[in-house]
Amino acid sequence: MSLLVTGSIGIDTVKTPFGVSENCLGGSAVYFSYAASFFAPVRFVGVVGPDCPFKLAEVFKGRNVDLAGLEVREKSKTFRWSGTYLDDMDNRTTDYLELNVLAEAPPKVPAAFSDSKYVFLANTAPKLQLELLEQIKQPQFVAADTMNCWIESNLSHLKLLLKRIDCLIINEDEARLLACEKNLIKAGKNILDMGPKAVLIKKGHAGSLLCSTNGEQFILPAFPVENVIDPTGAGDSFAGGFMGYLVQKHKTDVKSLKEAIAYGTVTASFTIEGFSLNGLSTINRADIDARFEALRKMTSF
Ligand code: AMP
Repeated sequence: MSLLVTGSIGIDTVKTPFGVSENCLGGSAVYFSYAASFFAPVRFVGVVGPDCPFKLAEVFKGRNVDLAGLEVREKSKTFRWSGTYLDDMDNRTTDYLELNVLAEAPPKVPAAFSDSKYVFLANTAPKLQLELLEQIKQPQFVAADTMNCWIESNLSHLKLLLKRIDCLIINEDEARLLACEKNLIKAGKNILDMGPKAVLIKKGHAGSLLCSTNGEQFILPAFPVENVIDPTGAGDSFAGGFMGYLVQKHKTDVKSLKEAIAYGTVTASFTIEGFSLNGLSTINRADIDARFEALRKMTSF
């Protein structure tokens, strides 16, 4: 089964209480693809400028990630983001956000990708997410992520997008902002009223909450990790593990969604153990499965 992702490719500068990682590889589509590739082949669609210092073909060497949808756009500039984490490692401030190529037209979906059945619209401008989705013929399951800056600056496009997707994956502050509601259960319900069949709310080290239109609710704590080095990309890796597992299983029933949440949870737990992709690039599928079983033991009673 085919899983297509589009989102950002970023030059990140990240500051945590454990150090600074300057101009490292980041971006929502990058973290997502690496994480999802432990489960299923990934079709990557994204755009950078000629200033991009990273060779994505090298980064994804040996992974099942098809970079046919990677565009290097002349006369443009790569997206840049910088964030600083507070001591709790859950909250961060954005130091700067340079949209650059993300403020332009979306990359083109290669013809060979247009039959993709599973689609993840990782964090990028909602207008680009919509234009990208238009290029897919008959998707079966579409999930999307968004964030505060898009909710604040691009709400009309975001609302159109919500009518077109099956599942929104969003963090708790963003869910409250989008729903104009402090209580997360009510916020989840308000967002379901905007269109998606399921809303998956990420709560940092407190885990995640699934609300769906059939009334189903599911909660799962985060996998406990002793050395959190850099939480950047945890949300995208969570989404990658989640979508990757659904594609591997080729099912989206409630039981599979719950298992996929557990896989997303443990995949993200590796990302936060290092800067950039370091936490993911040193593990294999067996490591993920071992934590999946450990999480199952820790949460059953
Ligand atoms: P996460 O920690 O899962 O929210 O993902 C952080 C990654 O998303 C970083 O590597 C950034 O490059 C990227 N990012 C941050 N802000 C945005 C944005 N507004 N749009 C797209 N990608 C972003």
